[in-house]
Amino acid sequence: MITYPGCIHPIRIPFTVPSPSGPVPRFVFSFLIATKESLVLIDAGVHGSEQRIFGEVRDLGRKPEEIGFLVLTHSHPDHIGGAMAIQEATGCSIAAHPAERKWIEDTQCQERERPVPGFRDLVGGPVRVSRLIGDGDSITLGAGRALQVIHTPGHSSGSISLLMRPEMILFSGDAIPVPGDLPIYDDPDASIESLERLMNIEHITYLFSSWAEPKGGEEVYFTMDDGHAWVKEVSRAVSLITVAHPGIGLDHLTRLVVKEIGLPAEAANPMVIRTIKAHTRKS
Ligand SMILES: [Zn+2]
Repeated sequence: MITYPGCIHPIRIPFTVPSPSGPVPRFVFSFLIATKESLVLIDAGVHGSEQRIFGEVRDLGRKPEEIGFLVLTHSHPDHIGGAMAIQEATGCSIAAHPAERKWIEDTQCQERERPVPGFRDLVGGPVRVSRLIGDGDSITLGAGRALQVIHTPGHSSGSISLLMRPEMILFSGDAIPVPGDLPIYDDPDASIESLERLMNIEHITYLFSSWAEPKGGEEVYFTMDDGHAWVKEVSRAVSLITVAHPGIGLDHLTRLVVKEIGLPAEAANPMVIRTIKAHTRKS
């Protein structure tokens, strides 16, 4: 366990996604930044997460209505699922990158275009994005603090990371893949570029990823290196198998890649098939 500034409250949200062999346990982090001046929430978890998030707020002696801002790092179900209930209960503003807006405001469209297993159980409903944010924008937290928006596409086209200044604390959303976990991104080259951009930011003190426990010190940069290496490893496996099996179909390719990179067979789900398809466009 690391010690990090007391204004940051990671909220670990467990959920399951259905698979042919039964429900697969997953988790995602949302982050509450609680300063005297404001409560800002980064990501909304899955449908129902509002109870856990509001519980955290009340434990701090604050009220859910004090949440003034919900920043969505991107539009995926485990980040927007609780947004509708949170918006209804608090009246908060919702900020996201323009490239994610359509899937946040039209969740039926997202389900058609990116059919994640269990989508309807994970997403409470659509919400309106009231503030569009892009690279270089700043979200004021009060007392001289701000969240600087860094556009980190790859996982999705409008994925953002947030750098809290002046403490240099990075919230990376899903931008940093986790070795040994499902590789999920829409554009491997953009993902690599985004990781390199984050790795080049000096003096990051803490890393809060949606997919991992908080990291501090040199672990921050090791985590980014590992994520970078994982994308390269998937790329290597895709190249190896497409060369060995010219004309191989996408489903078969995904099954072989999953095996090659040491993941269990059930990892070849629709989200990973989408990732492998993205790799074949590049090779
Ligand atoms: Zn995601």
